[in-house]
Amino acid sequence: MIIVSACLLGIRCRYDGDSRPENRLLSILSDEICIPVCPEQLGGLTTPRLPSEIIDGDGSDVLNGRTKIIDPTGKDVTEQFLRGAEEVRRLARLMQIDTSILKEKSPSCGVHYIKRGNLVLRGMGVTSALLLSDGIKVISSDRIEEEYVRYHRNRK
Ligand code: SF4
Repeated sequence: MIIVSACLLGIRCRYDGDSRPENRLLSILSDEICIPVCPEQLGGLTTPRLPSEIIDGDGSDVLNGRTKIIDPTGKDVTEQFLRGAEEVRRLARLMQIDTSILKEKSPSCGVHYIKRGNLVLRGMGVTSALLLSDGIKVISSDRIEEEYVRYHRNRK
């Protein structure tokens, strides 16, 4: 069983009401039970919603209270992002899931990168950082081939 960012499975949960289906992902995961999650929806945000950004640092800094997440109107949505991350972690613990594949560059799901304005910066999203701190493997949607295939092979 594996947790997957819902937008990667074709669920229209992105801020713009769209999805980012990864057909290659579906074929690689054909023998896995995928649990789709969207932390931003689980945190209580609407779809569609305004795109939000971590204003400084990354998801680890949000978890440590060192920075916050705001939408383009300046509204602080940190609480919703934290709540969504907690819900995903709760689900992972409840179902004893130790692996996730998350959408790269998102302020929730980014694994190696997040976006700030037009910049792509090194760093993790809030949910990815929380899952990693809980010992859950987080695999980037941009590196499914290398990271998941290698991980899956080593697990056998
Ligand atoms: S990247 Fe994560 S938070 Fe954003 S729409 Fe996809 S599942 Fe939801």
